[in-house]
Amino acid sequence: MSDNSFNRIRIDCAKLENNYRVIKDFAGSRAPVMAMVKAEAYGHGMIRAAEAFGRAGCDLFGVAELREGVSLRKAGVRGEIYVTIGFDAADAELFFQHQLTPVIYSHAAACALSTKATALGREIGVHVKVDTGMGRLGLHPEDLPGFFESLSNLDGVKIAGIMSHFAESDDPDSLSTRQAMQTFSATCRELKSNYSGICHIANSGGVLNFPDAYYDMVRAGIALYGYHPAGGNRNVGQQGQGLLPAMTFHSRILQVKKVPAGIGISYGHTYKTQSPMRIATLPVGYEDGYSRLLSNRGQVLIRGQRAQVCGRICMNMCMVDVTHIDGAAPGDEVILLGCQGKETISADDIGAAIGSISYEVLCLLGNNNQKEYIE
Ligand SMILES: *Cc1c(COP(=O)(O)O)cnc(C)c1O
Repeated sequence: MSDNSFNRIRIDCAKLENNYRVIKDFAGSRAPVMAMVKAEAYGHGMIRAAEAFGRAGCDLFGVAELREGVSLRKAGVRGEIYVTIGFDAADAELFFQHQLTPVIYSHAAACALSTKATALGREIGVHVKVDTGMGRLGLHPEDLPGFFESLSNLDGVKIAGIMSHFAESDDPDSLSTRQAMQTFSATCRELKSNYSGICHIANSGGVLNFPDAYYDMVRAGIALYGYHPAGGNRNVGQQGQGLLPAMTFHSRILQVKKVPAGIGISYGHTYKTQSPMRIATLPVGYEDGYSRLLSNRGQVLIRGQRAQVCGRICMNMCMVDVTHIDGAAPGDEVILLGCQGKETISADDIGAAIGSISYEVLCLLGNNNQKEYIE
């Protein structure tokens, strides 16, 4: 018996390396580039993606949770690894064991690190998260001086940086990004005058749209996976700045059936054939991250042509119209994300079809299917 699924995510590591170099060139000599590899590197596989970026020269990585940082270290990834969304006080020791960099936004976290640092006779550099308008994680800028003051009384903890995050940097005209930069600059001035440390705020949108936002480091995510944060297929393929989508999703046809006019397809019969048709059944469903919102909306590629999803996406299967595709037969390769012949389906296209964005599509497909790497 084979462990193999009919479906396969393929990751092109050369494209990940290319994208890191493109962003590195883009940020120029002005700022080092941190590769955000949280969420299994947006579905691309955290360790393999970090290794690819490493080959392209990356030595700064960002994850959300501590367990992700530990996995990277256990896999032998070197360089600095930032844990960006916090940790349990009980796990503070892991930062020392695995040389991870904590991002903090509470006194309790600083205390937990200080206790461990003192016990181990070591010192740890922390980055403080400030909320400059995202309305998510971080201290209010006005609370920062007091927070810094309280840290100065803690042994073994030193401020290595201030970081924040943009809410709207995918839009080059966004006023809130300008405002966040002003707030951040003012906050950083405080750091630079009293402490030594770096400042960083730019995500992919910041890198691509706001050169003034680079400060001492940039943190790129979606761009490294080949997509523009604003969607709309910007930068895809040969256009734009040469970012290349690294993920493709492959399946095959299970069965092709001739059906007469007037019959219903799939659960709820939301699709009714208007004329005699040929319908192909595919082994892909919402369990595989192919959202049920793609019911009657999704498109796939078969023999270089587009085929429309008919009826609801099931848990493990869906149906597509192959009436117009000569010779479509069981076993034919089906591309659900990627190129075939002259046609392309991007994560932006799928995102637009389900009212979402490439980020979610990459996570859904990448994290729910077997992966294969092309080195
Ligand atoms: C995910 C993340 C990024 C990268 O965002 P993109 O829009 O994917 O470039 C940057 N910084 C932090 C803190 C993040 O969590």
